[in-house]
Amino acid sequence: MSRQQKIKNISVLGATGSIGLNTLDVIARHPDRFRAFALSAATKVAELAALCEKFSPRFAVMTNAEAADKLRAQLRQSHSPTEVLSGAEALEEVAAHADVDAVMAAIVGAAGLKSSLAAAKAGKTVLLANKEALVMSGGIFMKAVRDSGSTLLPIDSEHNAIFQSLPRHFGQGLDQVGVQKIILTASGGPFRTRPIDTLSEVTPDEACAHPKWVMGRKISVDSATMMNKGLEVIEAHWLFNAAPEMIDVVIHPQSVVHSMVSYRDGSVIAQLGNPDMRTPIAFGLGFPDRIDGGVRSLDLAKIGKLEFEPLDLQRFPCVRLAYEAMRRGGTAPAILNAANEVAVEAFLNNQMRFVDIPRVLEDVLSRVPILDAATLEQVLVSDDEARSITREAIALSRTALIGQGGAP
Ligand code: NAD
Ligand code: MG
Repeated sequence: MSRQQKIKNISVLGATGSIGLNTLDVIARHPDRFRAFALSAATKVAELAALCEKFSPRFAVMTNAEAADKLRAQLRQSHSPTEVLSGAEALEEVAAHADVDAVMAAIVGAAGLKSSLAAAKAGKTVLLANKEALVMSGGIFMKAVRDSGSTLLPIDSEHNAIFQSLPRHFGQGLDQVGVQKIILTASGGPFRTRPIDTLSEVTPDEACAHPKWVMGRKISVDSATMMNKGLEVIEAHWLFNAAPEMIDVVIHPQSVVHSMVSYRDGSVIAQLGNPDMRTPIAFGLGFPDRIDGGVRSLDLAKIGKLEFEPLDLQRFPCVRLAYEAMRRGGTAPAILNAANEVAVEAFLNNQMRFVDIPRVLEDVLSRVPILDAATLEQVLVSDDEARSITREAIALSRTALIGQGGAP
């Protein structure tokens, strides 16, 4: 590094997950730039203990007191100086701590909302992987970013690509900078070409076997249903203040073009790279500098072919549901997100079929009253209600299936 600079303190929330571990991999490559200030995990004590021994963070946060006690006991044995905290409030504390420069928000699902928001409110640089926070409460989140002057850097690879393909002053409005469309690419997941009539037999392991990316199980199922792309459309809507009709999706099986921006003059600017989350993570950590994230450089001649095809909404109804929820506005996206979290978990636990996920979501979206999403309380009321109605709907469909002598 040519010039002297302050080492940045990074809180990595969701440190034991796929994004968390990739983030720590990049951090470990740059001890002169970054220090892991706080690490968090839900329940994986042994994994977080190993990370604490390696990175010596000031704080470690577990979801509950019992897991925190276990972690404390383990760390005592290794004379680790890390202070162990527990609970949702502790997550918010380490996100907003005065000594923190940037927060990697990489907890999965609605569980990551409050800590991501706390980082934004405290004016931190927010490296946002937790797309569900924006889907649920995009208006509230973006206002917090504006009010505090926080820097929000998208880590989701598509949004990171769009961010890189926009001029720095895009905040003035997409129209002012000549943008016509934002084009999200989607790999199509593991079932892009599988015969539709066999989708009812899909197992959790098949759904999690993504052809291009290694990710946590929830987002892997979301990629298989393409709800992930639906959530990303809503995420793009908030991040870039883009009207629904300005956001398109195109299937691109190679996952090399991570997304594109189409301009009024006919230019299309894209960001390309190997499918490796350390690229957007290194971009976010290093911003505005470019740093090494350990990613192989792209060899286009070796890849040879980049293909694109239209999105088939019949095969992937979840994308249609996401556009619908986004157009309805208010807490509709939060309802869809909550229903999806419950449905995905039920599918992963073999309690419902893959093909029933969109059916249940459509049903729940039509039944839960949509509030105006002006406050976090309203968002959480809708989230809660959607979860209980989804559980009911799943239980009913199970009873019906068992009545017919069917699985699961
Ligand atoms: P993961 O399941 O691998 O990891 C999730 C992390 O969150 C773990 O550290 C876990 O301990 C923690 N966690 C889970 N439930 C929690 C709870 N209730 N309270 C506190 N912590 C909890 O997930 P992932 O694939 O790393 O994804 C993380 C987020 O990043 C998701 O929002 C996902 O949509 C987004 N994202 C992931 C990828 C990817 O390549 N994995 C790409 C883009 C966006
Ligand atoms: Mg993505």
